[in-house]
Amino acid sequence: MTPLRPTEFELIAKYFAPLSAPNAFGLLDDAAIVTPPAGHDLVITKDMLVAGIHFFEADPPEAIAAKALRVNLSDLAAKGATPLGFMLGLALPENWQPEWVERFATGLGYNIETYNCPLYGGDTVRASGGLTLSITAFGTVPTGKMVRRTTMQVGDSIYVSGTIGDSALGLKIRKSPNRANLQKQLKREESDYLLNRYLLPQPRVELSDAILRYASACMDVSDGFIGDLTKMLNANTLCLSLDAISIPLSKAAKNAVSVDPELLKLALTGGDDYELLVAVPPDDTQAFEQAVKKLQTPVKYLGVAKQAESVTLEIRDKKGLPIIFNTKSYTHF
Ligand code: ADP
Ligand code: MG
Repeated sequence: MTPLRPTEFELIAKYFAPLSAPNAFGLLDDAAIVTPPAGHDLVITKDMLVAGIHFFEADPPEAIAAKALRVNLSDLAAKGATPLGFMLGLALPENWQPEWVERFATGLGYNIETYNCPLYGGDTVRASGGLTLSITAFGTVPTGKMVRRTTMQVGDSIYVSGTIGDSALGLKIRKSPNRANLQKQLKREESDYLLNRYLLPQPRVELSDAILRYASACMDVSDGFIGDLTKMLNANTLCLSLDAISIPLSKAAKNAVSVDPELLKLALTGGDDYELLVAVPPDDTQAFEQAVKKLQTPVKYLGVAKQAESVTLEIRDKKGLPIIFNTKSYTHF
């Protein structure tokens, strides 16, 4: 016999209502009210996560909740927005357990507090497929000031936050049989670091203020560094030429690449980085660099965008030869 499980309404009242915003009426109404502060736009974004694609079904429920919220917070940060709240769509598999939802809600609550981004509502259904969830997040920016992805200009300096490729390498370790090969070649703390970067993205929310003030364009790196940077450049027929060595890699990622040089391509195209690519006009680079220097997250200068003639993004190896990427980023279709 299947154990007795709470109804949809019990679930919402017990686990989600305590996480809700004051304007969400305890999740007892059909809808909630979101009021952006005067003189502000509401910036909205949505990310869906599917078991087996964006996370492993057996991952800790707390981590799945954290990732679902954090990937949206990364999009808001890229737009220079301050988080305001979010909505949660949850499709539970046939065999869902209350304990799973309880742990999921606990993880969600922890992240809601950390990022000051409360729950405004959502929907809960049972699905015949695997666990699927979707978060729509809201943020605010002064009216008309949302930082776009497509507005980089000739002469702008391009920067990237944090390190690239950790998550893709972490996923590679998780997917390899018995986590063999790569993991064996790395120190325990290095492989743990890479695995954790896949499991728990760190949205660069602390950069959003400097982005709002100084960026001409910004994008979060979710599908792959090469593909995402190419998208930004392509929007205005710009180009950038880079030595691979100037792309920031963690110590763990560098060691992985030195074990197997082919892993560099995976690191630069695998995605799930949730780092930010930021373009800054020449007059603002000094102020931008000053502003981010005070923060925990390192921000690395990559180069200046030039008018494109042929290739939009060129990455050179140690010998100065262009590296060919057959795949530039992750795509679902
Ligand atoms: P529906 O309109 O689909 O019947 P309900 O009216 O039953 O949905 O939803 C009741 C309330 O519970 C609403 O305020 C809704 O936003 C909230 N809610 C439902 N599922 C979730 C969830 N997964 N997370 C947060 N709030 C939820
Ligand atoms: Mg309703």
